[in-house]
Amino acid sequence: MNSSKKVVLVGHFGVGKSSLMRRFVQNTFSDNYIVTIGVHILKKEIKIEELNLTLVIWDIEGKDDIQKVRSSYLLGTSGFIYVIDPTRSQTYERFNEEIDFLKTTYPTSKIVSVANKSDLIDIEEFKNLLEQKNISIDYFASAKEGIEVENLFQAIGLKMVKNV
Ligand code: GDP
Repeated sequence: MNSSKKVVLVGHFGVGKSSLMRRFVQNTFSDNYIVTIGVHILKKEIKIEELNLTLVIWDIEGKDDIQKVRSSYLLGTSGFIYVIDPTRSQTYERFNEEIDFLKTTYPTSKIVSVANKSDLIDIEEFKNLLEQKNISIDYFASAKEGIEVENLFQAIGLKMVKNV
C-alpha cells in the first residue's frame, strides 16, 4: 500500500532544519549557512512495515516563535519535527510552551523532538541539563555526521501511521 503524509520541520533560525532535511533526503551536508526563504519541500519514501509512506517534508522559514509561522504553511500537517540547537539555549527555553501550543492547535498531528548538532556537545551533560529544565527530547542527532537522522524520520513516520 502507498500513502503520503506532510511533515513540517519547526524550530528557530539556524538550528539545522534544512540540514536535517538535506541529510535525510539527499545524504549531503554543507557548513555554509543558507537562509530558507519561504518554504522548501522535499519528498522521500520510507517503509513502515508493509506500507510505502511518502514523507512530504516542509522546511519553512525559521521563526523564533512558532505562533508567528504562517498558519497556511501548517495546514494539513500530520507530523512535526521540533528541532533545537543544544549550543544555543534560546532555541529551547520556550520548548514546553511551544510543544503545548502545537498539541493544542493541531491535536491530531504527531510530534518528534530533536536536539541537532549533537556532534558539538557532551550528550550526557546536555541530557542532565534538560532534565533539570523538565524538557523531554526524543533524539540527539547530527545532520553533519548523519547520526540518528534516519531514525528520527522513521519515528515520525511510525507515529503518524500507527497513530501512537
Ligand atoms: P535552519 O535555519 O534551521 O534550516 O539551519 P541550517 O540547516 O541552515 O543550519 C544552520 C547552520 O548550522 C549551518 O551553518 C549548518 O552547517 C550548521 N549545522 C546544521 N546541522 C549541524 C550539525 O549537525 N552539526 C554542526 N556542527 N553544524 C550543523
